[in-house]
Amino acid sequence: MTLRIRCTHDRGVARRHVLTGVAALIALVPAGRAKADHRVSDLVGDDGMALPRARDLVGQVVRLRGYISQGAEAGPDYLLTESPNAPCQLCGLTHDAGAALRVQPAESEVSASAVQVVEVTGRIEQQGDSLRLIDARIAIV
Ligand SMILES: [Zn+2]
Repeated sequence: MTLRIRCTHDRGVARRHVLTGVAALIALVPAGRAKADHRVSDLVGDDGMALPRARDLVGQVVRLRGYISQGAEAGPDYLLTESPNAPCQLCGLTHDAGAALRVQPAESEVSASAVQVVEVTGRIEQQGDSLRLIDARIAIV
């Protein structure tokens, strides 16, 4: 003969504890792995010019994901693109990386390679018709 103890009160408490724990986890996760606020192509066109909706963001700190590379035409600045600005691993050619946002890193060393996804946080500065991200922090994702 088996003895079964049923206690709905205890079970209710236990479930509440579990739900509280899950809620705490959900609250923690987005802070650590938040999605980027914007895409490069939300801010600049393929010609590098600022898009109209991006002008409202001038002076604000934004976070973007992409690939960072040193563009010859960008001078000391780096370029943030949605596709790697590096030779293709399939065919060896460098494909058009699309819209590129100029980035002035806060630190002189950028350790990310051109094929690593990075998250860049910086302030949008307007330079004529184009934009750049200044005082930018670059983290490998
Ligand atoms: Zn290719």
